[in-house]
Amino acid sequence: MIDVLDAMKIINEEIKLLKPEKVYIVDCLNRVLSEDILSFDNLPPFDKSAMDGYAIRSCDTQNKENILLKIKSIIKAGDFCAESLKENEAYKIMTGAMMPKGADAVIQIEKVIAESDNLYISEEVKKGNNIIKLGEEISNGDIALKKGTLIRPPEIGLLASLGYEFLNVYKTPTIGIIITGDELIDINCKLEKGKIRNSNEYSLRALIKSANAEVFSVGIVKDDRLALKEKIMLAFEKSDIVISSGGASVGDYDFVKDILREIKADIKFTSIAIKPGKPTAFAVYNGKFFFALPGNPTALISTFEQFVKPAIKSIMGITYNESEEFSVTLKDNFKAKVGREKYVFVNIIKEDGVYYAYNSGSQCSNHSRAMCNSNGVLIIPKECGSVKVGDVINGKYIFK
Ligand code: AMP
Ligand code: MG
Repeated sequence: MIDVLDAMKIINEEIKLLKPEKVYIVDCLNRVLSEDILSFDNLPPFDKSAMDGYAIRSCDTQNKENILLKIKSIIKAGDFCAESLKENEAYKIMTGAMMPKGADAVIQIEKVIAESDNLYISEEVKKGNNIIKLGEEISNGDIALKKGTLIRPPEIGLLASLGYEFLNVYKTPTIGIIITGDELIDINCKLEKGKIRNSNEYSLRALIKSANAEVFSVGIVKDDRLALKEKIMLAFEKSDIVISSGGASVGDYDFVKDILREIKADIKFTSIAIKPGKPTAFAVYNGKFFFALPGNPTALISTFEQFVKPAIKSIMGITYNESEEFSVTLKDNFKAKVGREKYVFVNIIKEDGVYYAYNSGSQCSNHSRAMCNSNGVLIIPKECGSVKVGDVINGKYIFK
């Protein structure tokens, strides 16, 4: 049995980035740039007005009592004014419009009086006032975004303003799912004696979707060694990461780990000192990754969040941020045994700047309701044992 942090470290060391691919800009959301993005333009590409106002020569307003300028015409956003501004002249100019030659400042509409073509100004205007200078944000030749940047909506906007329609980003992994268990029937079937519905397939699909990865499912496989081996090989062929649900424990019909041994996968660990989720295993096979997760629905979701999600993130080039944990004060008692790190699903509520954790229902790993009633998880360290009201331990929000 391996400690949680060691397991995470091993996974992180093994996972290698997938190859990049060229993707249409909008579809790059939540993907990571595989190259530096150079700007081949200045941003903005011309000096432009930051306000609706009047483009003027600042010197025409300096050291004067009564300032009166002649309004020539109006420059809208998108116009190009070929004429230069001369002494004591002004152009009415709209936000985003290109400055006319000769003008070096803009005074806002609210600060002047305009009567027909007369413009009265009652203050001195500084050079550069309300002008966004050419290349002020990004200069031609600059690196606008670095390799490794996660593309969010603002990055998409910036890339669009630089004229990038397609980007090189790391590939999205396909996650193979194998659901094991003779007791399972699909959700559209009537329950028979001894059978339960295959809920894990659906929670896994949702978890994978929330991690922005693709799914390849082989569906339900009976607890039959040959059938299972065949499906594991198929899943390896079609996916980058394979997840099995169930059959990972030490029961007579738990074949997943035996098959991994048989195909000579490089098994990195076969159990983790965590509750729920102890039988979780991780292996590498022909450059692909395998997570054997317990069939227990709560354990499956919890181990996915803890171990598989960071792996999906790193295979896509997203740096995993461990600092999501924070101190939580307990409002209820929670049982735990020394020896395994325990995850307890709770409600975390912030009151007067303090995070409090409330019990959200039965923590039996066969019960999944508590998870549905929770917005967070408490992490009870393995050497800690039971914790009580008032204790302060680490917690974090889940499914955000
Ligand atoms: P296992 O890990 O195969 O020993 O299964 C542990 C528990 O999880 C058993 O009670 C199973 O019936 C249950 N279980 C296994 N697979 C699923 C599934 N796909 N959906 C819902 N429950 C499952
Ligand atoms: Mg089973």
